Amino acid sequence: MSRSGAEVIRQIRSQVEEIDPAQVSEHLGNGIVLVDVRDSNEWDAGHIPGAKHVPRGYLESRIEGIAGADRSQEIVLYCASGQRSALAAHTLKELLGYENVKSMTGGITLWKDRGYKVELPKTLTAEQRERYSRHLLIPEIGIEGQTKLLESKVLLLGAGGLGSPTALYLAAAGVGTLGVVDDDDVDLSNLQRQVIHTTDRIGVPKVDSAEQAITAINPDVDVVKYKTRLDASNIMEIIDGYDVIVDGVDNFPTRYLLNDATVRLDIPVVSASILGFDGQLSVFKPHEGPCYRCLYPVPPPAELAPSCGANGVLGVLPGTMGLLQATEVVKLVTGAGEPLIGRLLLYEALGATFTELKVRRDPECPVCSRDPSEIADEEMGVFPDYEAFCAAAG
Ligand SMILES: [Zn+2]
Repeated sequence: MSRSGAEVIRQIRSQVEEIDPAQVSEHLGNGIVLVDVRDSNEWDAGHIPGAKHVPRGYLESRIEGIAGADRSQEIVLYCASGQRSALAAHTLKELLGYENVKSMTGGITLWKDRGYKVELPKTLTAEQRERYSRHLLIPEIGIEGQTKLLESKVLLLGAGGLGSPTALYLAAAGVGTLGVVDDDDVDLSNLQRQVIHTTDRIGVPKVDSAEQAITAINPDVDVVKYKTRLDASNIMEIIDGYDVIVDGVDNFPTRYLLNDATVRLDIPVVSASILGFDGQLSVFKPHEGPCYRCLYPVPPPAELAPSCGANGVLGVLPGTMGLLQATEVVKLVTGAGEPLIGRLLLYEALGATFTELKVRRDPECPVCSRDPSEIADEEMGVFPDYEAFCAAAG
């Protein structure tokens, strides 16, 4: 004899462990993954702060991306009343093998009745809804991710080969504030790869040329211009307050200086470099992964330093690497996916190969192994005299 739906639900609910909103509230932020399994329109109307959104229909395909592959991870699911979350918990346990899954009693309705906090919907204008509609359609971004992008502040070091594509796409994606640091003017030899600039802007400061291109794409973006070179005297003032820094600088002393300053201020850096047909990419998130000094404790030999003079580069290569940087920025800002932390991605264009290397934190690292407040100003960016360094290259 077949059982009624209500009976099946009752039976499943009796097998699923339930957790009271009071306990969820108490343990939130202590390593539990809280997942809202309702539909997108319900989530958008208000949800529990800190929760992740995986609509029940996407549970099997998306839960690992949110909760990780570790089957002992503690997961709490909630819905409107506690019924859909109990069924979803059953699925996670029985089909996917998560051992520590609970369903929140009474759902968000009881949570609200008990007076716990709810994150209310962010709103976009009608024009923004249309402009970003393709973002709103992917659950990993959605209205929440788009709002984060619009509220984010991203600093681009250099409006050159890497900075150009990064700036164009981040502007299009709706990053609310784009800072641009560059002290150069547009030169004819830049145009082979620095696609944010144009032939009729040769001679114009790159920060002004970049601003023109960015505002033409998206008036939502505020451009903050720094027509200067980053050095020890201005770095803290310039980078403070940014959420992510995109490193497209072409010299090692600035990279070390940037590393030390960002570790101290706890700002993630999306770093790329290019030479010839080869590109490298990594994300340095202070104290979560290695820093630049963990990866390169000493600078490479001077004769290999690309910044000691003009070097050849395939014009499209900075496009490839710059867009990988832009992708990492969007991930860091929205929280989607797995950023390239502790991993170094190598791209070799001639052979069309990508290689990934694991990079570990150095427990003896002179910078990131210490408490940020211990790093003194005079210790930042310690590096051999650069002219002497380049002269040694012959
Ligand atoms: Zn380090």
